[in-house]
Amino acid sequence: MANQRNLKATLIELLQNKHLLNVAQILEELETQGRSYNKTSVYRALDQLLEENLICKHFFTEAQAAYELREHHHAHLICEKCGKIITAECLYHQPEKVGNFKVNHHHLTLIGICDDCQV
Ligand SMILES: [Zn+2]
Ligand SMILES: [Zn+2]
Ligand SMILES: [Zn+2]
Ligand SMILES: [Zn+2]
Repeated sequence: MANQRNLKATLIELLQNKHLLNVAQILEELETQGRSYNKTSVYRALDQLLEENLICKHFFTEAQAAYELREHHHAHLICEKCGKIITAECLYHQPEKVGNFKVNHHHLTLIGICDDCQV
């Protein structure tokens, strides 16, 4: 499965440069690079990367899941008017436990109005 391993490395590389990507954008990027993988391989590689805790999957829009590197930790600021997603330092202090729930990881999403939309 050398091909699959290459694909995973390529996906990590893409996400290092582009922050958030959905599957359609990933397929487009791969095509631009002249590497053709089918959708099923890409989904399989993304699932493996998720299992390995290397990437995170977000549902900022109903239509498409977006992926990013798990090591890229920041808050996501989402504009309610234009849908733009901005990143900022995450100021949330993660507790080890909430009640009996053991916390591994968090995503902070702030909803508001971006600079451009504040007219
Ligand atoms: Zn992000
Ligand atoms: Zn995450
Ligand atoms: Zn906006
Ligand atoms: Zn944080």
